[in-house]
Amino acid sequence: MESGLLKAVEDLGAFRQMPILFIGHGNPMNAIEENGYSRNWAAMGQILPRPKAILCVSAHWETWGTAVTAVRRPRTIHDFGGFPEELYAVQYPAAGDMQLAGRIKKLVRSREISLNQDWGLDHGCWCVLKRMYPEADIPVVQFSLDYTQPAQEHYNLGRELSDLRREGVLILGSGNIVHNLREIVLVNGDFNKPFGFDWAVQAGNLLKKLILENRHAELTAYSALSDEVRMAIPSPEHFLPLLYVLAAKQPDDRVALFNDDILAGSLSMTSLLVGGA
Ligand code: ZN
Repeated sequence: MESGLLKAVEDLGAFRQMPILFIGHGNPMNAIEENGYSRNWAAMGQILPRPKAILCVSAHWETWGTAVTAVRRPRTIHDFGGFPEELYAVQYPAAGDMQLAGRIKKLVRSREISLNQDWGLDHGCWCVLKRMYPEADIPVVQFSLDYTQPAQEHYNLGRELSDLRREGVLILGSGNIVHNLREIVLVNGDFNKPFGFDWAVQAGNLLKKLILENRHAELTAYSALSDEVRMAIPSPEHFLPLLYVLAAKQPDDRVALFNDDILAGSLSMTSLLVGGA
């Protein structure tokens, strides 16, 4: 494991309840490509207490209203275009968890949660889990992002879901904190060479500062922060999974950052492990 990550995990101390994870998922190729980022995802699978189930909030499942997957065998969804054949061949045959889906429906009191039989596991979810738990032997439920709701509502939902940590469920948010695909540039054709535009670096630094200082209200109202942040978050879906993770954080939890690079000018891999309370 990369030494910075090891130190970050040691700093968190013991995990008395299930930690929470936000992963900057970046390029779908990370599912099959050996690089420092995907190696750290694999390391997370080794370090964390083994979850009973995983609840994944992915940037890539937006719905009208809120839903959870309620299928026994979720299909692997290849929701991207223009990638090599070998990526389309990847399957992630984890089981679903009907009991967990039902539990979430009961747990969330603020709104109706629908049990969805159509969705499976999208690439925001399986690209990460393929590295973390390659055996696909932990059940997975996905939680959708209701695109009709403001960021504050997503944060509130994260609060409601936080009880699941005590029940051995790993809450995994998968998105990207800085994510502006229109501004992407490749450095010498290499996607994985760290490089960030000044605005992306500034936005990333401000957002990280607010994360580490527990300034969640400002993060939830992110579009009021600065021009740079508005450039970094041109649409909410890759940022919202972070709010679920922050909302499930207990006051005594600490936050460790890892994979803290910006790639291709405008896409941050920055990830958070939250735990210790
Ligand atoms: Zn994505």
